[in-house]
Amino acid sequence: MGRVFVAGSINMDVVATADRHPRVGETVAGKQVLYFPGGKGANQAVAAARLGASTTLIGRLGKDAFGAELRAFLGAQGIDLGYVQETADAHTGTAIITVAEADNTIVVIPGSNGLVSADDVSVVPLLKGDVAVSQFEIPLPTIAAFFARAGEAGAVTMLNPAPAQKMSDELLALVDILVLNETELGFLAGTELSDSDDAARIIEVARNLQARESQTICVTLGKRGVLALAGREEIAVQGRAVTAVDTTGAGDCFVGALASQLAEGAALRAALAFANAAASISVQRMGAGPSMPTAAEVRAIL
Ligand code: ADP
Repeated sequence: MGRVFVAGSINMDVVATADRHPRVGETVAGKQVLYFPGGKGANQAVAAARLGASTTLIGRLGKDAFGAELRAFLGAQGIDLGYVQETADAHTGTAIITVAEADNTIVVIPGSNGLVSADDVSVVPLLKGDVAVSQFEIPLPTIAAFFARAGEAGAVTMLNPAPAQKMSDELLALVDILVLNETELGFLAGTELSDSDDAARIIEVARNLQARESQTICVTLGKRGVLALAGREEIAVQGRAVTAVDTTGAGDCFVGALASQLAEGAALRAALAFANAAASISVQRMGAGPSMPTAAEVRAIL
């Protein structure tokens, strides 16, 4: 059975709630301060580990209190943190989030995530059958080095290009499975895509982006589910009818779940259905990390 290796970001999300947002230059009294483990890399690793995959995270924390707290949280999820280093050169990645009037503002400071280097990923013991996962919250040259190494080892590479930014053709060519939402697909393909676009249009845009015929592109569509282009084959998995309370981390749950299933040797269609079900559970719970389901919870609804 393969393992999941996630090279990615680890953040502390600091959430302040208030009745209203302050104007520029103004101070308002808040109601609560909440601390949530976050960062796409950490969230995806938590999802994979909760679902039973042998999961290793590669990343960097600062030598500070948030770093220590995040290490304790991630370790308690059963994630191997042997490749998570502490650096004295930056603080732990932090997101400062203000929630008021049912809206939020977010400032993300990458901190130590910005220092994850090609050297950090060069020592990872990837083997055939493993799944190497990354996102765009660590430097892109690091991701390219990680995927090049994974390719040499015969591991499958999975990229979640979020938050969206342009990438080189060389990096795209190293990706076996691209997992992204329709906005990110539109951005990378240089076109506009929205909720109202039908499957045929989404597949057409995915086909234009596809770097090589053996590449798989999975487009997550929120409550509409997921569409995938695998080589020339199209796979559609309908969204599950649930009452969403918090969709934060739904995409991360989907990516971690998909990686866990492919590492177990599942076929793509079954892995997509599993990930769609896992993500539909996560949207019914608050938060990102703590909302990730277990394999038993997912199997119970499949
Ligand atoms: P992102 O958070 O990256 O934008 P999506 O919103 O596309 O990602 O959600 C990822 C996956 O989570 C979807 O493909 C689907 O499986 C599941 N999902 C998201 N929102 C809902 C919802 N309201 N109801 C059911 N499933 C959902």
